[in-house]
Amino acid sequence: MTIHRIRLLGDPILRTKCATISHPGSAAVRMIVDDLRETLRDWQSRFGTGRAIAAPQIGAPVRIVYVEMDRPWPLINPEIVDIGTEDFIVWDDCFSFPNMLVRVQRAYRVRLKYQDMRDAVHEIELDGDRAELIQHEVDHLDGVLAVDRAHGTDPICLREEWNRWYTSNDRCTTPELRTEHLHSNIL
Ligand SMILES: [Zn+2]
Repeated sequence: MTIHRIRLLGDPILRTKCATISHPGSAAVRMIVDDLRETLRDWQSRFGTGRAIAAPQIGAPVRIVYVEMDRPWPLINPEIVDIGTEDFIVWDDCFSFPNMLVRVQRAYRVRLKYQDMRDAVHEIELDGDRAELIQHEVDHLDGVLAVDRAHGTDPICLREEWNRWYTSNDRCTTPELRTEHLHSNIL
């Protein structure tokens, strides 16, 4: 297992459209998942934050995301197959630009399809925190970063300034009915 350097904004690998995994049970997939877990845990132990990491962030341009919220949760070929009718506004951050927050608009509810490492297909509904996290991670697999989705006036903020002007209550708004089709690229 290897703890990798996190690829940072400007590195072309973050802009790659990542390849679909055809054998979720393979040793190669196991190795990438192990490395994602170790790299995420290393980050958590150093900075006390971090819920998920996408394979291109450690230099592997394949469709794997590793999430650790209440349990380790590797997602192979994750795909958002549907979204709800409401959006919310979130100050998003990313290991690939750790000193910046970006205001983005995300669907409040999503339907996620993915494979596990035994090749079983799952479909689940996520909302709130988990929904925005998954949208961020699936974006990574398409070479899309939160900075590309910057929303509203003055949408990019250095972390130091964000901490000066906002509190954790300002991180997300309450969901509201979507008025524009900002997510037409998903559906
Ligand atoms: Zn990210």
